[in-house]
Amino acid sequence: QAEATRSAVTQRLLVVEDELDIAELLRRVFSKEGFQVDVAHNGLSALETLRREAPDLVILDWMLPELSGIEVLKEMRARPETRMVPVILLTARREEIDRVLGLELGADDYVTKPFSSRELVLRIRGLLKRGERPIDPKEGALRLGPIEIHAADHRAIVSGRVLTLTLTEFRLLEDLVRAKGRVRTRETLLAEVWGYDSEVLSRTVDTHVRRLRSKLGD
Ligand code: CA
Repeated sequence: QAEATRSAVTQRLLVVEDELDIAELLRRVFSKEGFQVDVAHNGLSALETLRREAPDLVILDWMLPELSGIEVLKEMRARPETRMVPVILLTARREEIDRVLGLELGADDYVTKPFSSRELVLRIRGLLKRGERPIDPKEGALRLGPIEIHAADHRAIVSGRVLTLTLTEFRLLEDLVRAKGRVRTRETLLAEVWGYDSEVLSRTVDTHVRRLRSKLGD
């Protein structure tokens, strides 16, 4: 009984990182924080681990041997069973173009190397916290203009067309629909949609809004 309860609350992280010392550092930090940690050292084994385990969140290095972070991310977002799994990208400071591309492809946020592990843990806790909000299965659809939101099964429909959204995009749209035209600041969105507290600064909001706009269409 106790065992079942414990494993039900242990959240599972997948670290994809080819630099062995960074991978080992992250494994130690996250284990100490109470997470169960899987590590993959290249893109192919990341995909294999994803098929075998069901991580709650993935920390994904961008430059990987065999299959790059971009390909792993694309594959994750194309598969229904991993589409909603949050992804934090690890990128080098110079790779501005990669960060933008990563967010465009559906990463939830990014952290640049060298990073502080505390900063990374805050983001992980935020992104995972979002899943804990209880949803009333009897709650009906939210509607605003042509947009319909079904919170219970994460479906968003626009003029009868079902959108393919990541979890963050879904939460963002849901938040904006609930706000019914009231102004939402970036700080509010980071708190409500990403689950971040005010210590976490991120420029991920703008890219997500742009991406959501293009999925919504006119
Ligand atoms: Ca690397």
